[in-house]
Amino acid sequence: MAERILIVEDEDKIADILRDYLLQHGFEVFRLSRGDEVEEWMRQHGADLVLLDLMLPGKNGLDVCKALRLQTQAAIVMVTARVEEIDRLLGLELGADDYICKPFSPREVVARVKAVLRRTHGGGHPAEQELVMDDAGWRATLAGRDLGLTAVEYQLLKVLAAQPGRIFSREQLMDAMYRDTRVVSDRTVDSHVKKLRKKVSDVSPHREIIHSVYGVGYKFEWSAAS
Ligand code: CA
Repeated sequence: MAERILIVEDEDKIADILRDYLLQHGFEVFRLSRGDEVEEWMRQHGADLVLLDLMLPGKNGLDVCKALRLQTQAAIVMVTARVEEIDRLLGLELGADDYICKPFSPREVVARVKAVLRRTHGGGHPAEQELVMDDAGWRATLAGRDLGLTAVEYQLLKVLAAQPGRIFSREQLMDAMYRDTRVVSDRTVDSHVKKLRKKVSDVSPHREIIHSVYGVGYKFEWSAAS
């Protein structure tokens, strides 16, 4: 099961970047933009880790953090706009598991999230769920196991995985695949997708990453197999 991350952030741009990075690293990602929605959302849905911005509409991150600490075991990573703020927050002993200062690199956030989860959840590690794509050898591994893809399947997966959640039409996929490679094939996108999904499910039967969107096309998203 992918670990669940709740992003609480009122700036769409920041939230979107974080979301994309975390999705690429195999997490299941949710987002709220108001502080006063967090406690109720957590009661209903739950998450393994909350990335909590300090300045939020509705209720500030400090109060949300205090409330969550009484309510849930979820890890909490506070995100602040000023580095000086962190000392003050530490002094308040809010019970947050880590602090990150803006501006941050999404890469850094992913590394910190993983470290916190490793620490707080002891062992169960999302890295095992990672999809790693090696362009040099056109080799894709999922959960550390080689998917054994053909060049066309590799390219297809790469295009889809580069933008998790985006729905591609068959035509868009064709264009993207054939623009980037010299591979020529007269097979339809559907038959490539079918084989790709088969290979994913051989390696990882409980996970589905390529989803067909009825009447439209395909998208990449981390989820459990239905
Ligand atoms: Ca904010």
